[in-house]
Amino acid sequence: DDVTLEQVREYVWEIPQEGDMRAPARVLASEALLEEITEDKTLAQIKNTTHLPGITNYAICMPDGHQGYGFPVGGVGALDAENGCISPGAVGYDINCGVRMMRTNLTYDELQGQEEELVESLFANIPSGLGGGGIVEAGIDDVDEILARGVDWALENGHAVEEDLLHCEDEGMREGADPDKVSQKAKDRGKNQIGSLGSGNHFLEVQRVTDVFDDEVGAAYGLEEDQIVVLIHCGSRGLGHQTCNDYLRKIEQQHQGLLNQLPDKELAAAPAGSQLAADYYAAMNAAINFAWVNRQLIMHRTRQVFERVFGRSWEEMDMHLLYDVAHNIAKKETHTVDGEERELYVHRKGATRAFPAGHPEVPKAYRDVGQPVIIPGSMGAGSYVLRGGENSMDLTFGSTAHGAGRLMSRTQAKNEFWGGDVQQQLEEQDRIYVKAQSGATVAEEAPGVYKDVDEVVRVSDELGIGDKVARTFPVCNIKG
Ligand code: 5GP
Ligand code: MN
Ligand code: MN
Repeated sequence: DDVTLEQVREYVWEIPQEGDMRAPARVLASEALLEEITEDKTLAQIKNTTHLPGITNYAICMPDGHQGYGFPVGGVGALDAENGCISPGAVGYDINCGVRMMRTNLTYDELQGQEEELVESLFANIPSGLGGGGIVEAGIDDVDEILARGVDWALENGHAVEEDLLHCEDEGMREGADPDKVSQKAKDRGKNQIGSLGSGNHFLEVQRVTDVFDDEVGAAYGLEEDQIVVLIHCGSRGLGHQTCNDYLRKIEQQHQGLLNQLPDKELAAAPAGSQLAADYYAAMNAAINFAWVNRQLIMHRTRQVFERVFGRSWEEMDMHLLYDVAHNIAKKETHTVDGEERELYVHRKGATRAFPAGHPEVPKAYRDVGQPVIIPGSMGAGSYVLRGGENSMDLTFGSTAHGAGRLMSRTQAKNEFWGGDVQQQLEEQDRIYVKAQSGATVAEEAPGVYKDVDEVVRVSDELGIGDKVARTFPVCNIKG
């Protein structure tokens, strides 16, 4: 391609500033990871994002980065909140797609033999797939409350305990959310989906901890080898998707001037200070709250499923939320840039916040060791728990990767894999029990469609943006 890439040092590559670029771009990757993104549009896309007004320092592609809608998945862009802009495509369609991990005190030994019962029961009790309702059937008034208050609504309605809020980014409630800025159409799409996984890449996975690399941080997070944990990955369903779509169309209509300056229409952005920038931010914050409630309801229902399967109360099984992190958001944050405090819209699309030890926004329980970061791998590979690294504020506006990252498209995956075979192989070779709404989903999400999560995490760890704490391996997995 025509993208110039210069190596700055190990794992750090730069696309130098030229032409209408407002800053350089950086790619954080090993040579092996870099090779995976030379064929698609990832590099061109991260370069394009440097045309956005207010881009600060550089646009950054994380080690798991790959091609997305306009802005690459695995992209971080910090745009000045006074003179810059905010871009829905740089947040992503699935607003506050994210992951949460719940601990248990069960061991893999105790669980073995009950995998099938557990996977069946989870599948039967946790709504998934394209259609088909959520855990609660809500009216529009409830939707407004959820959008405004996030997990606080779940607490009041018996789907959470106080401690769940403390172990969630932003304590499960994003400030500045305005339900009135979310369209009726978006609310209608969301109201039957509260507490549902959705389809495709979203999943609930029971895992066992195979390695703890850092005993001190592992202890602070309550992680031990052989322990069973639960990982939940989903977002804001139709509500978030509709919200992204609504604002992209409005921005395209009202901010043609800015749009015409950008190399890709998919980067459409509202200038900071405009009415649409404020409206989108308020609507996005509301969709963020919706997604947190979604993951909270699924987690709480999972506690009830475990109670039935193992015949003990969830409290007895120590089923506490370790942490919930968003990986598709923008947030107004203060960062030090060239010795000066600046307000920035930090866009993290397929990127995870990774604040280091001592940062005031890290929950008290983890402040001494750093924010937990959860990196799913695939249904056949490991996943990781990291902690925000010392260098993250300097290198990545406090961010790291969000997964292994896709290697091939869904269409390609379906040509390459057959769902039934994948499922059978996982069960026979690795004792991983998968249950999905459709075989196509299993093929599209086969372990082979993802990059090597170990390599992604190694680069994050070496750069000191997110340090390895523990590794897990799948036991049961349900998908839409
Ligand atoms: P995304 O949010 O970009 O769709 O996905 C996040 C990451 O989740 C992917 O990059 C991939 O590494 C991981 N992932 C996808 N499916 C599964 C699964 O079934 N189990 C686990 N543990 N990880 C998955
Ligand atoms: Mn998602
Ligand atoms: Mn996601």
